[in-house]
Amino acid sequence: MSEHQPALISLIGNTPLIELRQVSELTGCTILGKAEFMNPGGSVKDRTALGIIRDAERRGQLEPGGTIVEGTAGNTGIGLCLVANALGYRTIIVMPETQSQEKKDLLRLYGADLRLVPAVPYADENHYTRVSGRIAAQLQRQGCSAIWANQFDNTANREVHYQSTGAEIWRQCGGQLDAFCCAVGTGGTLAGVARALREQDKSVSIVLSDAQGASLCNYYREGELRAQGSSVMEGIGQSRITANLEGLEVDDALEISDQEALPYLYDLLQYEGLCLGGSSGINVAGAVQVARTLGPGHTVVTVLCDVGSRYQSKLFNPVFLQSKGLPVPSWLAGAA
Ligand code: PMP
Repeated sequence: MSEHQPALISLIGNTPLIELRQVSELTGCTILGKAEFMNPGGSVKDRTALGIIRDAERRGQLEPGGTIVEGTAGNTGIGLCLVANALGYRTIIVMPETQSQEKKDLLRLYGADLRLVPAVPYADENHYTRVSGRIAAQLQRQGCSAIWANQFDNTANREVHYQSTGAEIWRQCGGQLDAFCCAVGTGGTLAGVARALREQDKSVSIVLSDAQGASLCNYYREGELRAQGSSVMEGIGQSRITANLEGLEVDDALEISDQEALPYLYDLLQYEGLCLGGSSGINVAGAVQVARTLGPGHTVVTVLCDVGSRYQSKLFNPVFLQSKGLPVPSWLAGAA
């Protein structure tokens, strides 16, 4: 690791914890959002990208000029690509073709070697994570310096959220928080933050807000991985217990539908001026439920995961919403 790290690295993390006024007033609680969309790559996954790359460097797995390969819904790829550019590595990013055009465009702009694959279930050998693992293994066999970032099962992911995100939240709340709630993609954020907060105060309630169509809500409630329905939200919705989720216990698990989450997402933009991605809507909807259960006077923290502009063609597009049978808010219909 060089003594003088690139400026980009110092911009990752230490995000503000902001009060969401409207939902706080609605519930009589203080609902706070960790502004992860302010990371340089526009998402919470910049932290994961940096954590995984630094871990690989420490283990001597990545030589200067080496290649980082990853399967991603987009945000981890964006984070990896920016960090890799700043540190002198290359990136090969494998992504399901169903993800938003904006994320594909950003990855190409940033210089990733982007490989789009059909979206298939995890069990399929052509699932994007498995494809990315095979590409990394092939490069290694050819004698290239290459790593598979493997964000789902590489616990350097939850470790960086334990060290940074969770520690920051505790500090920023001055130790005054009752509950933390967020959705899961890899589980790195939820597991890492949960560990950091519980280490400080065992009574902090840890709640999963799961997107409809994911299997974890049912798993934590009834012990069985089972899902019903589907979600248009990208980057979240897990069907298995990843290594990052292993050992995690939650105090409650909620299932949030797109219909419930989207109005929060639109209100965040219209009344708070915060343009965020769909998982932030799931998270804020979950935080409201947690606040209602706790009752007025409590403090609930959640995560504002990424910027909304990378979903303009989907969540903020009347044609897309209608095609999914989702309601189009009046201000958006007018703008079309
Ligand atoms: N929201 C968005 C937009 C994401 O891209 C991700 C990561 N895939 C998450 C939430 C979930 O974070 P984690 O992987 O830490 O569970």
